[in-house]
Amino acid sequence: MKDCIFCKIIAGEIPCKKVYEDEFCLAFHDINPRSPIHILVVPKIHLEAAHHIGDYPDKNTANHLFSAVGNIVKEQNLIEKGYRLVINNGKGAGQEVFHLHIHIMSGFGGK
Ligand code: AMP
Repeated sequence: MKDCIFCKIIAGEIPCKKVYEDEFCLAFHDINPRSPIHILVVPKIHLEAAHHIGDYPDKNTANHLFSAVGNIVKEQNLIEKGYRLVINNGKGAGQEVFHLHIHIMSGFGGK
């Protein structure tokens, strides 16, 4: 989608620190990390927020996203460390980029 920063990253028009890519998703390090490890998982299709997932013809979108999360946390050795998944939906919840993304946050050092 025109003027969407994550669409531009997916199209290779803006650089990112890529962590993972498959047919459906791209994951990269957050430019302004709020935890020691802060990765964004972004579907390649432009959906604004989580409540649009069910409107999309591909009914496997959520499955693709969470399967990618599983691959990433295994590859990045985050399972033992523990990790948080966050999806902000809407300005009132702190969403700044209106292209659905899952924040993977880890490395807090807690037990
Ligand atoms: P949210 O507030 O949930 O919409 O999260 C948007 C996230 O995108 C923020 O954590 C930003 O730091 C991050 N972000 C914005 N632009 C970029 C970029 N060019 N590359 C990587 N992360 C970005």
